[in-house]
Parts: sequence; C-alpha cells; structure tokens
Amino acid sequence: MSATSTVTEDVPKSEEQLDRSSDNLTLDCSSQAESPLQGLKLASHEVLERAQTHGRIKCSKCGGSRMFFCYTCFTLVGVNQQEIPLIKLPVRIDIIKHPNETDGKSTAVHARLLAPDDVNIYTYPCIPELDGDVHKAVLVFPGPDSVTLEEMSEHLNDIRTNSSDEARVKRQKITEETEDEVNPQSCPLERVIFIDSTWNQTTRIITDERLEPLLRVELKTRKTCFWRHQRGSPDTYLATIEAIYYFLKDYHTLCLRKAYSGEYDNLLFFYSYLHKIINKAKVSAGKI
Ligand SMILES: [Zn+2]
Repeated sequence: MSATSTVTEDVPKSEEQLDRSSDNLTLDCSSQAESPLQGLKLASHEVLERAQTHGRIKCSKCGGSRMFFCYTCFTLVGVNQQEIPLIKLPVRIDIIKHPNETDGKSTAVHARLLAPDDVNIYTYPCIPELDGDVHKAVLVFPGPDSVTLEEMSEHLNDIRTNSSDEARVKRQKITEETEDEVNPQSCPLERVIFIDSTWNQTTRIITDERLEPLLRVELKTRKTCFWRHQRGSPDTYLATIEAIYYFLKDYHTLCLRKAYSGEYDNLLFFYSYLHKIINKAKVSAGKI
C-alpha cells in the first residue's frame, strides 16, 4: 500500500481531542522546511477564526452541533457562503462515501462546500450514473492496473481519436494528434471519481462491478499532512481533499498544459486551517 489513496478524518471537537488526534501523526508538516501547506494561495482565514470564537453551533437543518460546516447536510454553519472561496473546477468531481464511515471524519464535504457546482457526494451503494460517460470518467485509485495522469491523458485522447473516425489515414491521425498536444482543451476528461473511506472499507466499493469499466488513475507519490494519520498506513495515504487537490493540480499542468498559479489552492481552505489549529494545540501541549 505504498500508493496514494484517500483517507477520512474528523473535525476536532475539543482541545483534548485535538491533543489525542495528534498521537497517530507520523508526519508533521508544520515542522518540515518544505511543507505542502506552505505557500498556498489561500483566502483569508479570518472568517474561520471569528466563527471559531463562537464555538460549535446548531445546524439549522439537522440540529447537530457543528463548527464551520455540517458534514451531514453539506451546509455551512456560522459562516456565510459569500465569506468563503468559491472555486470553479475544470472537471466534475464525484465522491463515493462508505456508508459506515462517520460523516465527521470525511474531508469530502470541504470540496462540496468550496466547489458546489462541480462536486457531488454519493453514499455507497449509490454511485454516479455513468452510462455513456465511462470513457470520459476516471477513478482515482492505486493498484496494479492504475495509470499515471500522463498515461491517462494519452489514453483518453486515443479513445477519442479512434472513435471519432476509424478510417482516418495514419498521416491525418498523426497530424491531429500533434495538434491535440498543443491544444489546451484536448483532454476529454469530464468526471473524476474518488472514494472517501478508510482503507479497510474501500474493498467493497472498489470491487463493485459498476466501477469496473473505469480507467484507474494513481496520483504521484505525495506525503500527507493529515493529522489523523492511520496507524500502519503509509504517509502517502492522503485525505480525500488532499487527493482531489493534487489530482487537479497535476491535471492542470499535465493535461490542460497550463502553468499552475494557485487556481485550486483554496480547496485546502478548511483543511489548512484545521491543520493549523491542531498544530497550535500540539504546541501548547508540548508535543512540538
Ligand atoms: Zn446538518
């Protein structure tokens, strides 16, 4: 399990919990010279600092006690939509959640709140309708058959080229492919599916035959900043929001062939803030 996958986490509920949650942390990004969370182009966290001073409040929909957002209703709590960043994504993101997973442990809701037009969350056995879209969708999951993003881009272009005109002479095909390489819109990917679950619970979803036809894509190895790092899992085992962020960043440069200048950094708006307050708690507990 050295490859990248996703993992769920929890919003800290108390100082004590913040403290306990740090016990399993094997990688402390804040103490590393080159933390992946440094240098992000983020909106001001002032709104979250202000909301935090009010503590947990009731979600107006379900009545649950929440801070910043309700992970059950996918709504903001104590924070207005206008106060948080709104991100437009180049592809649709579908997240399949495991039904037994505690909602509060998931970072999937971060993506839904920050890019509401492009992100949907499904609770397994519900999965996105894929009819006709199979060749324009990929599943982010590591495994022996998984391809890199570069390979994914080539693969999707091949399918499109082959299906658009089987009889095209080779010379014309080569010409078109060459043009595609410089065309920033050439990658025909429309949907990217992520699985939001602990590693042990992922098997049931990943072996679902409805997901079988999907090309599987593996992210480049990256280390997690996740504060609830699972004991025994590699530090390349990413939180769902980290996996989405890194996928889009690579997609932007490798598939859309554009220079990356922070377009999706705000996907880590909540994540980086929560990471920050957990580190503060660790410092005050004398753990750093
Ligand atoms: Zn709620």
